[in-house]
Amino acid sequence: MASKAKATNEMKLIFPALSVNESFARTAVGSFIGLLDPRMDELIDIKTAVSEAVTNCIVHAYRDSFGDIELCVKVCSDRMVYIKIKDRGCGIENVEKAMEPLYTTHPEEERSGLGFSVMESFCDDVKVTSKPGSGTIVTLRKKLGIKL
Ligand code: ATP
Ligand code: MG
Repeated sequence: MASKAKATNEMKLIFPALSVNESFARTAVGSFIGLLDPRMDELIDIKTAVSEAVTNCIVHAYRDSFGDIELCVKVCSDRMVYIKIKDRGCGIENVEKAMEPLYTTHPEEERSGLGFSVMESFCDDVKVTSKPGSGTIVTLRKKLGIKL
């Protein structure tokens, strides 16, 4: 989570990959980012992107296992926000493929393969590193507008 600007605030949460914790993660990140007095649309974008990443940990990473999700949020002095969502689940064989719009490994379920596309359109940058059998780290970056 490197930034040239100084980190002014940070938080870290670790919680089990249960579906009830998707809304917890969304709300927790929302209230932390809310401290910066963001615009409503920016806040909604961030919360939606976090929901998609956390949901992926719950429904994909730990599909056949149980484990924790680690969520770190870092806020920098230039109002740049970094959010890291990390799991130690099954990992992704082909990250480039997984990030293609409409690609899903579970078309038979209600999955539309748009989670990463949502993250990319609602954030300034999305980075995914993954190792099959070890887990995945998704890092979201978004710069908040100037506070009025
Ligand atoms: P949707 O998000 O629209 O419900 P989806 O989850 O399948 O569908 P994406 O969120 O774009 O679509 O993810 C694409 C694919 O990447 C998934 O189908 C899954 O195979 C894989 N994937 C995503 N996140 C993880 C993760 N944390 N661990 C393992 N696999 C993942
Ligand atoms: Mg998804």
